[in-house]
Amino acid sequence: MNIVLMGLPGAGKGTQADKIIEKYDIPHISTGDMFRAAMKNGTELGLEAKSYIDKGALVPDEVTIGIVRERLAEPDCNQGFLLDGFPRTIEQAEALDQILADLGRKVEDVINIKVDQDELVKRLTGRRICKVCGSSYHLVFNPPKVEGVCDKDGGELYQRADDNLETVSNRLEVNIKQSQPLLDFYNKKQILTDIDGQKDINDVFADVDALLKSSRN
Ligand code: ADP
Ligand code: ADP
Repeated sequence: MNIVLMGLPGAGKGTQADKIIEKYDIPHISTGDMFRAAMKNGTELGLEAKSYIDKGALVPDEVTIGIVRERLAEPDCNQGFLLDGFPRTIEQAEALDQILADLGRKVEDVINIKVDQDELVKRLTGRRICKVCGSSYHLVFNPPKVEGVCDKDGGELYQRADDNLETVSNRLEVNIKQSQPLLDFYNKKQILTDIDGQKDINDVFADVDALLKSSRN
């Protein structure tokens, strides 16, 4: 099960990823989460990534490809993986094909979660994230049982610095431009499927799950 999850910021990639990995027991590989963990731990990678992330720019391809190559070589990826936030450039997509070819594997499903821009703005500005596990909540659409506290591990919830109204529109514009060539790349390979992400979280998951099952029959 070698899956790539695509969709604009706020589309629900992290939310759906949690459900997919729980059901199918494959690792969730989010380059954004990996960079945030490295920044929190103050590693060399974190310091380098921070200088780009703070500007709203992409971390250079060679850095990002390097961490994904290392991660995919770990044994827990042998039965499959769920990539989220990678690839973001054609160079990364081509590198991913090469990394997987070297391992005798390939990308099987690319799931593109589609949501209108107005809805994305509401989702991003209301998003809250667990400091411990990175799970996403929403103040209105998906609140935790106890305000400000993660249901899973009791971690404190925080708002990402880039999830404010001022930067969200720009992030969306930049992402729309960046993602189109990748959607074209996977569409040509006939492994891309659009999923309607406007529905309730569980209904979106039902569609994702049906797709994963059908592509395995
Ligand atoms: P992404 O990883 O694509 O940026 P998230 O999974 O973090 O997106 O979701 C963005 C925000 O929208 C979060 O606050 C999340 O709780 C909320 N959300 C996710 N899916 C839905 C949905 N189907 N309906 C309403 N809100 C959602
Ligand atoms: P968003 O969906 O809002 O961009 P992410 O959590 O996916 O949030 O990523 C946060 C930041 O980490 C990005 O703005 C970018 O600077 C960096 N990043 C994440 N994934 C990649 C990638 N594949 N290539 C380059 N930079 C990345």
